Amino acid sequence: MTKSESDHIERVKSLPCCLCGSSAPSDAHHILEGRIKGRRGNHFCTIPLCKDCHQGERNGIHGRQIMLKLKKQTELNLLGETIERLYGRRYGC
Ligand SMILES: [Zn+2]
Ligand SMILES: [Zn+2]
Repeated sequence: MTKSESDHIERVKSLPCCLCGSSAPSDAHHILEGRIKGRRGNHFCTIPLCKDCHQGERNGIHGRQIMLKLKKQTELNLLGETIERLYGRRYGC
């Protein structure tokens, strides 16, 4: 991992969970859509998730993805929201 990748991961982890709003620190989840077989996803394609929305057997993105369905969200859209939260204000969006 490069310095800029690890810096970005730290910024993502400092955000609240992007699905339920649980307070930071969050896990940085590598979105699955962008994953190439046999390769870990890009470290910039990460979203903040709490333990339950991330690894939870029922709610989690690695489980049955109930939270994702409840919020009518996709991982790609959450990635967009994460980028907006981190950088949107700085660039005046
Ligand atoms: Zn959550
Ligand atoms: Zn994950």
